[in-house]
Amino acid sequence: MAIWNLGSINADIVYRVPHIPAPGETLSSTSRQTFLGGKGANMSVAAARAAAHVHHIGAVGADGRWATERLLEYGVDTSYIAELDTETAQAIIMVADDGENAIVLHPGANAEIPQATLQAAMAEASTGDWLVTQNETNLQRTAAQLGKRLGLQVAYAAAPFDAERVQAVLPYLDFLILNAVEAEQLQDATGTAPRDLPVRDVIVTLGADGADWHGANGKAHFPAMKVVPVDTTGAGDTFTGYVLAGLDRGMPMAQAIALATKAGALMVTRHGTADVIPDFSEVQAFQS
Ligand code: ADP
Repeated sequence: MAIWNLGSINADIVYRVPHIPAPGETLSSTSRQTFLGGKGANMSVAAARAAAHVHHIGAVGADGRWATERLLEYGVDTSYIAELDTETAQAIIMVADDGENAIVLHPGANAEIPQATLQAAMAEASTGDWLVTQNETNLQRTAAQLGKRLGLQVAYAAAPFDAERVQAVLPYLDFLILNAVEAEQLQDATGTAPRDLPVRDVIVTLGADGADWHGANGKAHFPAMKVVPVDTTGAGDTFTGYVLAGLDRGMPMAQAIALATKAGALMVTRHGTADVIPDFSEVQAFQS
């Protein structure tokens, strides 16, 4: 089986600054580093590190060839990443000495993924494969609809949260994953609690409090592992990639969540995103 991920690919450019600049202020950075990022890329890397066969569907500009190459190095199939005549998405991340941050996100190629690229990918997908999307690209609804029609299992990570976008894909979903804040926002927008949504499996992640799974047999809670977190970015993406990889391999949901819980905990003990997502053997060996 395989996972098809219609997802964002970002250049995360991290500027270290003495403080977050005020309106009108000009400030020199003390360092600058570029990392592979984007929720989509993170999930592809996590699922590939969890030993799944992952095809990323997305787009970059010529300035993002390095990102496509890095995904390939990390074991992700990049045949369906289009190179467009536009810029690769960028996250300009300022991190101040006191840990405060501010981010400007430029969607670039993530918002212009050609429909033909999606269609070419879906033509290669098999019944029972997984299709996953998040809210950082165009074509989410088209992909969910197409995936469902082709007999794929359709998953959505509702982040960054947008009530209209989630509601547009809801009718096609087998699996929805969101964090506690997003779950509350969805309930405010729809008046429906996660357990009552018309989706087979819903997972609400709760950070250091673990995760709740609302499935056919009701709710099950999975406590988090006890670790000392140093950087919580990418925890949710890592968790989602591991759950999908487990399900794709035929694991029961509870077992897939148990594996993802370990991966998420290990991830928060590391600085960084895609580049530091733990691999399957590290996750299996991890005990807190
Ligand atoms: P998001 O990054 O999308 O907000 P969460 O913060 O809920 O997602 O994290 C996803 C999962 O990662 C959690 O369900 C949990 O299993 C694990 N996790 C996150 N933060 C911690 C933490 N501080 N300690 C242990 N596990 C954590």
